[in-house]
Amino acid sequence: MEAASQKSRSSHRHSFVAAPRVWGLKTVFVNLYYAANPDGSWVLIDTGVPGSAAKVKQAAEEIFGKDNRPRAILLTHGHFDHIGSVKELAEEWDVPVYAHPMELPYITGLSSYPPPDPSVGGGAMAYMAFAYPKKPINIKSRVELLPPDGSVPGLEGWKWLHTPGHSPGHVSFFREEDRTLIVGDAFSTRDAESAVAVMTEKREVHGPPAYFTPDWGSAHHSVEKLYELQPEIAASGHGMPMRGRELQQQLERLVHEFWIVAVPKHGRYIHEPAVTDEYGVISVPPAASNPVPKVMAVAGAVAIAGLAWAAWKRRDNYKEGYGYAKRQHEPPAQRPYSHNRVMQGMPANVDPDHDNPHAHTNNYP
Ligand SMILES: [Zn+2]
Ligand SMILES: [Zn+2]
Repeated sequence: MEAASQKSRSSHRHSFVAAPRVWGLKTVFVNLYYAANPDGSWVLIDTGVPGSAAKVKQAAEEIFGKDNRPRAILLTHGHFDHIGSVKELAEEWDVPVYAHPMELPYITGLSSYPPPDPSVGGGAMAYMAFAYPKKPINIKSRVELLPPDGSVPGLEGWKWLHTPGHSPGHVSFFREEDRTLIVGDAFSTRDAESAVAVMTEKREVHGPPAYFTPDWGSAHHSVEKLYELQPEIAASGHGMPMRGRELQQQLERLVHEFWIVAVPKHGRYIHEPAVTDEYGVISVPPAASNPVPKVMAVAGAVAIAGLAWAAWKRRDNYKEGYGYAKRQHEPPAQRPYSHNRVMQGMPANVDPDHDNPHAHTNNYP
């Protein structure tokens, strides 16, 4: 039983033991998991960063033997560090990919995710966020919906739970029998915002990676949901698995102090979440002022000069009686991503008495 909290590299060179019949593999800074049934059949949960397909297959071979493909690939969510090799692996193994309906737009080319928030502060990982890819992939021909009854395709004795907040269709997987939880990014077991913690692998319960989390209210509720399961083992996307009292105590603290310890002090989504539906992003709050890294400062200065020039030009236009006032009411051009689709009716989660869904619809990307 001790094995769950230790890296076990003796029998398998690449993977580590996370729980009974659950192995983990770290690709650069994110974990994916292999979960097996008693009969030896198995599923892959998440697929690592782009370019890790060979490593994923090699580790699978070490655990399950040659020519032993999984029954399915399951996705906790569609962020690039979890779906990096999904296309290649699904093709090669010829298996379906299961995801939550609310995550579908971001893996079928319909919508980009809400823009990441580099203004959350907290270290190198957050500052680097602007460089992460955010355009949707398209695996429409492979993707299937997780069944509404909570059962997990290809894996007996497990159930999936909707744990949104970090992403709209984020899910976690739970095995009641020994209370093993595969968390995804609903919370992490190291400080994802700190480059030092990323390198040292210090185990500690933290909130979801902040730079990608566009709905903190839902994220908090999801952590509560997972805490109520009283997991014995938690295997997360970022950080090594944790277990027992240490896990439960830290998870309890995270639930109670979520708005102090997990939610950043400043950021785009603190007071207002991104609004999404099954077609993708409907609206996002305006960007918070962004403490950009020094390397971006020059680009920023150039952009500011450009804006000043544009404003000066606009002032000229305005004087002539056309321009800014008129331009404001031009409809946004139709672009391929749903951020920019023209709104049809009122989305269910917008309160028509208080919110104007058009007010914050931006043209990102
Ligand atoms: Zn994520
Ligand atoms: Zn992640």
